[in-house]
Amino acid sequence: MAVIEVSHLSYRYGRVDALRDVAFSVPEGALFALLGPNGSGKTTLLQILTGLRRARAGRVRVLGTDSVSLTIHQRQRISYIAEGQRLPGWMRLEQLEAYLRPLYPTWDEALASSLRDRFGLDRARKIRAMSRGEQMKAALLCALASRPKLLLMDEPFTGMDAMVKDDLVRGLLDCAGSEGWSVLLCSHDIGELELLADWVAFLDRGEMRLSASLDDVRARFKRVEVTLEGPAVDVSPRAGDEWLAVQQAGNRVSFVLDHRDDVPPEITLRGSFPRATRLDVRDATLRELFVALATRHRSERSAEMEVTT
Ligand code: ATP
Repeated sequence: MAVIEVSHLSYRYGRVDALRDVAFSVPEGALFALLGPNGSGKTTLLQILTGLRRARAGRVRVLGTDSVSLTIHQRQRISYIAEGQRLPGWMRLEQLEAYLRPLYPTWDEALASSLRDRFGLDRARKIRAMSRGEQMKAALLCALASRPKLLLMDEPFTGMDAMVKDDLVRGLLDCAGSEGWSVLLCSHDIGELELLADWVAFLDRGEMRLSASLDDVRARFKRVEVTLEGPAVDVSPRAGDEWLAVQQAGNRVSFVLDHRDDVPPEITLRGSFPRATRLDVRDATLRELFVALATRHRSERSAEMEVTT
């Protein structure tokens, strides 16, 4: 079953097309990473999923219901941490927990207490006296203690040091991962997402370029490094070659291969590079994939603009 199903979703701010014909789904239990450059529409998409914005066109179903018609009971099973989430600074953490507890019938006091210990948070402390990292941990504690079916997080790692990021990722994995809760998070911290996610989507200028399980992504996108024999000659892809972000320095060529057929990539590449003295092929990292997809669509767009001008 899918906890989120989106099809033909479009959204405009005045003359700005923020989302264009977006389609994807999030399977139940997925740790789903939404990637995209600045301004690609991630926050807008999350706001539509939570019902804070109404889609202008398309179908958006969350927990099996239209996102603007979610019942109170369904909303109680969704936690959302917004970008730059602010908590009431004048409250102590224990007051915030006491405020939230009756709003969520599934609130789990034992889980709240264990997360407090694990994150090293003092419940008697005023929130405004906490550092940004501690406040984000407090926000995650509150989001997880209600045992959500679906957790939506917008840039949870922004401005956090490596230790805090690590704590947040482990806390999330231990709770959501082991309990099978569904999580959708967007972040520019690709390294953290690589540790967390088992599904990934890539949004670019309001269009969904890719949405797949990480296993499928790893099977499809390969990082290739080739060393050529003899003097350097410029290498360029032939028609039908799906090479992304090609870089060449002398007789060394590297790129991300979008490999979609059943033939092993090494065999296809041997045909393309008969003069190779060395051919290294490995799964592309999410960072390499992010850069490759973003540059592919940038260059396609510039080519389109050149044709139209
Ligand atoms: P970032 O990674 O920088 O947070 P994002 O992927 O979350 O960006 P959005 O904030 O959803 O992107 O913005 C998508 C597009 O919509 C951008 O072009 C942005 O300028 C535009 N936009 C966002 N909010 C508004 C608004 N309130 N009014 C007008 N345009 C907006």
